[in-house]
Amino acid sequence: SDPLLKVESLTKHFPLSAGILKKNGPVVRAVEAVSFSVEAGETLCIVGESGCGKSTVARLLMRLMEPTDGRVLIEGTDIAGLKKHELRAFRRRMQMVFQDPYSSLNPRLTAAQIITEPVENFERLGRSQRQALAADLLQKVGLGPEIMHRLPSELSGGQRQRLGIARALSLKPSLIIADEAVSALDVSVQAQILNLLMDLQQQMGIAFVFISHDLGVVEHIGHRVAVMYLGRIVELATCEALFAKPVHPYTEALIAAAPVPDPTRARLEAPVEGEVPSPINPPTGCAFHPRCPLAVDRCRIDVPPLTSMADGRAVACHVRAPASANAQPDMVGGY
Ligand code: SF4
Ligand code: MG
Repeated sequence: SDPLLKVESLTKHFPLSAGILKKNGPVVRAVEAVSFSVEAGETLCIVGESGCGKSTVARLLMRLMEPTDGRVLIEGTDIAGLKKHELRAFRRRMQMVFQDPYSSLNPRLTAAQIITEPVENFERLGRSQRQALAADLLQKVGLGPEIMHRLPSELSGGQRQRLGIARALSLKPSLIIADEAVSALDVSVQAQILNLLMDLQQQMGIAFVFISHDLGVVEHIGHRVAVMYLGRIVELATCEALFAKPVHPYTEALIAAAPVPDPTRARLEAPVEGEVPSPINPPTGCAFHPRCPLAVDRCRIDVPPLTSMADGRAVACHVRAPASANAQPDMVGGY
């Protein structure tokens, strides 16, 4: 059967100056031929340094912007082909949790209004129904009914992020896209929110696409991980396999730079030698070659395809994952 979410060769180029994309004009290559799939109830993490395109992937998944190329399929249905009312139904199934719960919550609404609003966009609720729904959602995210009438400004950062999650849960989604959902929170609160998300996944079978720059967070919550570098996935593996033995030189450098035992404390700051090149004029061939200790001549010329390896992971590297007769360029990226 079709996976819950399947992404095929998703590509997003932005024109460098305001206006439309011109053929051969200067573009920012934010996302380049990204493919992966997510099964019901699993967590796929997308990790990479800032500017690697992971937030753009999130926006493309939510259809908050149109891709330059490629497709997003929900249980086999291409979301680009959806009509307005179908898109509404689809939006019920996919919800987003943002990095900054403060700026994503309406400051003039009470907690109860914030979390019941998505449902009220679909159906009229009576006063007692609204109260009951709000109380239930607050309880699901570990908040007491006493905060029901408070404004976001009267809540702590952790409480606000719980509210953002309650809001996302209100429509009983099958997939939640979380973009840096714990990055703005204190370390101790981060762990609580991650544990809450994992509990909700257990109880409700929700799948997550969890976007983070923080490897410690990813190791804590992920089932599988896609590592992005300059708009492309360079390695896709189970969390276990990736952290036990990274294969792509970039993944290896990331993990070597963040060996912190406390999973909530690993931070990915300046993890790899050298600057991240600009996505406007990305390096030719493998975009990692200017920073890669293993680079060979071919790396400057050919883009390495994401290639399935014997252990099931997929890696884009001429040296570590040479494409051979029995290694297929991996188009789906799932296993
Ligand atoms: Fe390094 Fe070449 Fe592999 Fe890129 S393809 S990661 S430059 S060895
Ligand atoms: Mg981002």
